[in-house]
Amino acid sequence: MPVEITMPQLSDTMTEGTVVKWHKKEGDKIRGGEEVAEIETDKATMPMEAFDSGILAVIVAREGQKVSVGQVIGVIATGSENPAEIKKKYAAGASSPAPGAQKPAAQTAAPKSAPAPVAPASAPKPAASPAPAAKPGNYQFDIVVIGGGPAGYAAAIRAGQLKKRVLCIEMETLGGTCLNWGCIPTKALLDDGAFIRKLRLHAAEHGVTYKDLTIDFSKLISRSRAIADKLSKGIEHLFSKYEVKREMGVGQVLAPHRVKITNGASSREVTADHIIIATGAKATPIPNVHFDGKKIITSREAMNLPKQPKKIAIIGAGAIGCEFADFYNSVGTEVVIVEMLDHLLPNEDEDVSVLLERVFAKREIDIRVKTKTDKVETTPNGVKLTLSGAKPGIVEADVVLIAIGVSANTNGLIGPESKLELFKGRVKVDPKYQTNLENVWAVGDCISLHWPEQEGMGGYRHPDLAHVAHHEAVNCVERITGFSQHTIDYKAIPGCTYTHPQVASMGLSEKKAREENRKIKVGKFPFSASGRALALGESEGFVKLIFDAQYGELLGVHMIGESVTDILAELVVAKKLEATEAEIIEAIHPHPTFSEAIMEAAGVADGRAIHL
Ligand code: FAD
Repeated sequence: MPVEITMPQLSDTMTEGTVVKWHKKEGDKIRGGEEVAEIETDKATMPMEAFDSGILAVIVAREGQKVSVGQVIGVIATGSENPAEIKKKYAAGASSPAPGAQKPAAQTAAPKSAPAPVAPASAPKPAASPAPAAKPGNYQFDIVVIGGGPAGYAAAIRAGQLKKRVLCIEMETLGGTCLNWGCIPTKALLDDGAFIRKLRLHAAEHGVTYKDLTIDFSKLISRSRAIADKLSKGIEHLFSKYEVKREMGVGQVLAPHRVKITNGASSREVTADHIIIATGAKATPIPNVHFDGKKIITSREAMNLPKQPKKIAIIGAGAIGCEFADFYNSVGTEVVIVEMLDHLLPNEDEDVSVLLERVFAKREIDIRVKTKTDKVETTPNGVKLTLSGAKPGIVEADVVLIAIGVSANTNGLIGPESKLELFKGRVKVDPKYQTNLENVWAVGDCISLHWPEQEGMGGYRHPDLAHVAHHEAVNCVERITGFSQHTIDYKAIPGCTYTHPQVASMGLSEKKAREENRKIKVGKFPFSASGRALALGESEGFVKLIFDAQYGELLGVHMIGESVTDILAELVVAKKLEATEAEIIEAIHPHPTFSEAIMEAAGVADGRAIHL
């Protein structure tokens, strides 16, 4: 591909420069890193290095010519393309931006206090330019972050707070999956669903009667979208507060310290001391089944459908599948949920999964666990699923949501010569989030945790959760900058599912603890014995705590019921502080709250519960 050399911006105030001298002539071979020209600004004369190897196909700006920042001065043929063709094209006026036509993006290390030369989100970028010399200590940025999700934006903000010169490259919308297409918009929908369900099923108990309940599906969707937009704008605000520069485009790691940014037809390079990859993940399809975005959909479309489906089939009963089953059931859509493993939420403690199944079945969700989807076909009216296993048969629906997991976003991320190592499509990192490349780090949903202890925990698996991504990012930046060297304990990652009832857990399940031959004490307290839960009419569920029998160490937490996703945080802190069951029992819990069930469950484990 031809690579354009553009006039770099060597200071914040620089708007144009002069090509003083070309060290190469058209047709000359160029090696990456070689000086190709001398540029004069109003302050100094500087050498300009090429990052790409190839043949100098055309010199667009002659010696002595003054050109605007971002304007093309030459083009390198880097592949098998014909330099003469390139020359002809540029002679015919193919060069991108017209002099002075655009606001240039950052090209050099700007002083921290200088305003960020950020390109507007939709604006085209200056064409490719070899960045100024990538010599140690002479990088444009201290840190370049690729991806602006919970991992990327947290890394960028933390780096900004620590007074680093940081650039965040995002190809879509700041906030990533979590804010735009994941955690937040789904919770808005689930809350609407819960409100509707309560009216439908429980209004009379509360003395409320109504004539007709009508649902404006598009209103639910637009409320959820508006919340997502608001939060994404919040990130922009934080970026400007902490002087984080940002740029729209696809980031590609070319080599340590070098990142290429492509936006549409134009691209350019930037250099940084450190590169943090935080490109997240996208929905994994079923083999031989392609998402069409209309009938065979991912969660992204499921939260933004133009019309409420009469019937939805969901393949995969992890957190995402169950949350959508809950929402669509609440608003009156017929729901079938298919799961190959033994239970809904198969990674949760079995007691939790079994109760959720009971509640979902009562709400007439068609649950098909231990059932395999052999075929997914589109029909004129929707989709047809062929199932085998415990609940075989044909299922027809308007749409099918496939929620079987996520795969890392690495398309376009790896430059042809970067040699970044992947494992099953994910970026391999060590416990410090270091990849195999010098000063190239990776965090969030795009990584595999590649060290022996993690393999023992299920094969280098990464908990793909927003709070994990966030903590990894902050941890990584704090390590890079020498602020802190703490480590993340992957045995104590909290996980939540926002169905009704909610599910919240951390650590070992009872089954796993027994498989590991641990001596354990289990305490389980039902919400049917909680005053707060009864007052709210939310008595379904329990808190189950697993302690080491000898030392009282908290090994596992498994909860299902109203508000358990919020009360889980208490146990995360308890675990971090190595609290024992005695300490949990003796800590005064406010009354009446759902959190009392935690104190009581610890009491059950220790034979000291009062209300059971
Ligand atoms: P992402 O959020 O995916 O962000 C990556 C960003 O990088 C994206 O914005 C993408 O556009 C950008 N990008 C990718 N490649 C490039 C590139 N080459 N150049 C530039 N930019 C690039 N987690 C929870 O903890 N709680 C929940 O309740 C929850 N609910 C969820 C519900 C749904 C429906 C889904 C799909 C996910 C949910 N998650 C939840 C998971 C959570 O969204 C992710 O774990 C989290 O977003 C991961 O953050 P990340 O920054 O690693 O990746």
